[in-house]
Amino acid sequence: MTGQRLHIDWTACDGRGTCTELLEEVLVEDDWGFPMARDGSARPLVPEALERAARQAVDRCPLLALRLVRD
Ligand code: SF4
Repeated sequence: MTGQRLHIDWTACDGRGTCTELLEEVLVEDDWGFPMARDGSARPLVPEALERAARQAVDRCPLLALRLVRD
């Protein structure tokens, strides 16, 4: 199966949590506010139905720390 995965650049992210609000089905905040994949993976798979929300999260990340990559 091919799809998109969400890549988080940890060197850029400051844990403000905008992405976890927009993509709460995929991401959850850790104790410090940083996004963690609900499935525990480093690059969580984005279900097709959530691709639009994922793109929004990428576009709205203030630090350009997110990008979508092909699985
Ligand atoms: S929106 Fe960007 S900077 Fe904010 S927590 Fe998510 S990845 Fe990090």
